[in-house]
Amino acid sequence: MTRAKLYSLESSGQKRTTVNVSGIEVGKDFALIAGPCSVESEKQTILTAMAVKEAGANMLRGGAFKPRSSPYSFQGLGIKGLKILAKAREETGLPVVTEVIDTRDAGWVSEFADVLQIGARNMQNFSLLKEVGKIGKPVLLKRGMNSTMAEWLDCAEYILAEGNPNVILCERGIRTFETYTRNTLDLSIVPSVKEVSHLPVIVDPSHATGRQSLVEPMSLAAVAAGADGLMIEVHYNPAEALSDKEQTLTPEMFSRAAKKILALRTYITESLNLLS
Ligand code: PEP
Ligand code: MN
Repeated sequence: MTRAKLYSLESSGQKRTTVNVSGIEVGKDFALIAGPCSVESEKQTILTAMAVKEAGANMLRGGAFKPRSSPYSFQGLGIKGLKILAKAREETGLPVVTEVIDTRDAGWVSEFADVLQIGARNMQNFSLLKEVGKIGKPVLLKRGMNSTMAEWLDCAEYILAEGNPNVILCERGIRTFETYTRNTLDLSIVPSVKEVSHLPVIVDPSHATGRQSLVEPMSLAAVAAGADGLMIEVHYNPAEALSDKEQTLTPEMFSRAAKKILALRTYITESLNLLS
């Protein structure tokens, strides 16, 4: 007999996992993660962090190590960026989500991060998955842009198998023939994951669409599809952003979107409770 995979609802006895991030129970509490694509400076990160907190975000994102498609693009501030993130956390109280791209950095990135992000391009970096599995901190595992749900869940299994139960899945769009959007947001993956797995799943509408104008509508759609949270790129001045400016919201745009997102989430939760 083969053993049920650790990610499966079967193995959890149909019970859903919540992942505790500094008191936020992801899977029960809605995770609204916002912040810049890249940490660029202390001023940029702290101003943005204060703005997203004010708008209702409960976690801060920001990349200090950037997995860029071109080696000539901005690669991130590295350790300096991590120190800036720690300062932003101190100033705002928001826990920090940041990406780790190399097994050699995992140990010390984890000293600064509250959630270790594994990016789409590293989804199947099995040694990195094992490493963050050993570290034990919450992991945000993005879906690879060319990956099936089964492949994605098997990557989550690598982390779980190391004894780290704190895995949050993140859909960020997949490659299709469409070119108007950066990727195609596969929203059906949200209820699909929930049919087979107990792990929480959030949506990143920024990388999924690549367009500022589409972030709010797809955020609302993700909430309606049952997503446990959202990760949204925000910069205090997107025109100046060193990466992903086309998809990055201003604090004002984020604030308007966040109001609708949180209202819709409350409305859906309350009406579903009434119905059941
Ligand atoms: C990111 O969230 O900073 C990022 C690089 O996204 P992805 O790995 O989904 O491309
Ligand atoms: Mn980005």
